[in-house]
Amino acid sequence: MSVSNIHHFINGQAAAGSASRTQDVFNPASGAVSARVALANAADVDAAVAAAQAAFPAWADTPPIRRARVMFKFLELVNQHKDELARLITLEHGKVFTDAQGEVARGIDIIEFACGIPQLLKGDFTDQVSTGMDNWTIRQPLGVVAGITPFNFPVMVPMWMFPVAIAAGNSFVLKPSPIDPSPALLMGELLKQAGLPDGVFNVVQGDKEAVDALLVHPDVKAISFVGSTPIANYIYETGAHHGKRVQALGGAKNHMVVMPDADLDQAVDALIGAAYGSAGERCMAISVAVLVGDVGDKIMPLLKKRAEALKIKNGLELDAEMGPIVTRVAHERITGYIEAGEKEGAKLLVDGRSFQGKAAGAGCEAGFWLGGTLFDHVTADMKIYKEEIFGPVLSCVRAKDFGEAVQLINDHEFGNGTSCFTRDGNVAREFARRIQVGMVGINVPIPVPMAWQGFGGWKKSLFGDMHAYGEEGVRFYTKQKSIMQRWPESIAKGAEFVMPTAK
Ligand code: NAD
Repeated sequence: MSVSNIHHFINGQAAAGSASRTQDVFNPASGAVSARVALANAADVDAAVAAAQAAFPAWADTPPIRRARVMFKFLELVNQHKDELARLITLEHGKVFTDAQGEVARGIDIIEFACGIPQLLKGDFTDQVSTGMDNWTIRQPLGVVAGITPFNFPVMVPMWMFPVAIAAGNSFVLKPSPIDPSPALLMGELLKQAGLPDGVFNVVQGDKEAVDALLVHPDVKAISFVGSTPIANYIYETGAHHGKRVQALGGAKNHMVVMPDADLDQAVDALIGAAYGSAGERCMAISVAVLVGDVGDKIMPLLKKRAEALKIKNGLELDAEMGPIVTRVAHERITGYIEAGEKEGAKLLVDGRSFQGKAAGAGCEAGFWLGGTLFDHVTADMKIYKEEIFGPVLSCVRAKDFGEAVQLINDHEFGNGTSCFTRDGNVAREFARRIQVGMVGINVPIPVPMAWQGFGGWKKSLFGDMHAYGEEGVRFYTKQKSIMQRWPESIAKGAEFVMPTAK
């Protein structure tokens, strides 16, 4: 069977590029190769950046309200094509279609936010800072900015970036994950249909070679990255070394604390959805349950029953709760962690390795399938506790009291998201204040902030000082300029040699 080629999108058109390297794209449910994606070299990146650089001056000069109108049109088109985008996600990533629809919906939130750019770009003005003199600030776009995104949200994570960057007047080069490269091209087509001038949004498909070319390119002014921690760290250091603004969001190990007064049925629902939804391949997935006091003995039988009963199917089936793992390599990594957990003495209550592809439906025999996995009595010194597994593996840790639970989380090197289930208002308040984590849920297992709040973790989960999207996103993609003005009537005669002060 012949497979199609997936190309770049440069200056408003599909572009084959000059590189000869390609990578196979798989349907994780069947394990079959569905396409071959081009991997850009430095010349392809140069072409995309040159197109973006050429488009920038006119786009930056376009009044914000007119830029917002393009975003409104794009919003309408994405709404019309949202199921098509979701289907592309399921076919290349494997997550279940209903979850992919949710991903697209959360991306749409950011487009809606970006439609408000005229209001968001309003500067401030101080009248009469000195007699006859005013001072004000404006925010101006940076130029060409780049986004480097992970496989696990091929629509939502790029949409954390480009709607805000473009609405603010920048031009954009997206380097999506080569694992699921197709949604980026549909987004490019829809932006073009929305009336975005050619060159303002470009896609270069690729891997490290393309990323490295972006990191050193003198015309790229800022880099937004989302992915694993070692790469985030590398992007941050290399980008900063080359004089770029960088925000680099990294990996995670998110804990959910269950207090003895919590509603246990609600806690079980929350843990099952947050640990196994999207096969645990979410940076806000709950991968550690911290069971306080006697909660462990009460909740484990309930968790076991539910983990065993997950509906694991081809993601296109509408009642599927969990789909396959994204790649064979990821599958091997996750099963390696399950082996390590057993060896280190954690109690394996549900072993996902026993799940076979044929149970997922016809045509799934050779797919990258794994069942939900549940460990009890995990301790802080174990590899499965310390490292990000990024798969459907829930590790349960026992804690004697609230203080121990908080300490455990604060001692972990990651600090992306966390959650506490309780009925006690004071415990909730103390948790939210004392926890060293960027995004906190109280009786909310996956507290992904809304479009206008901004998204970002602490510690090894974010390198840089600005969160993604929200007002922090607007600040990241613009630079402030301060203007002081007076007119000849208010200028006193004579040169001034002392530091000017208000007169
Ligand atoms: P990844 O780090 O392997 O890849 C992310 C991006 O970097 C991709 O575009 C990839 O092509 C590129 N890349 C990979 N290796 C590179 C290298 N050596 N040099 C330069 N670029 C390289 O991440 P992934 O596996 O695609 O995504 C999963 C990871 O992303 C998990 O660690 C997850 O926690 C994290 N993630 C974090 C957030 C967040 O908001 N903090 C959100 C989603 C995913």
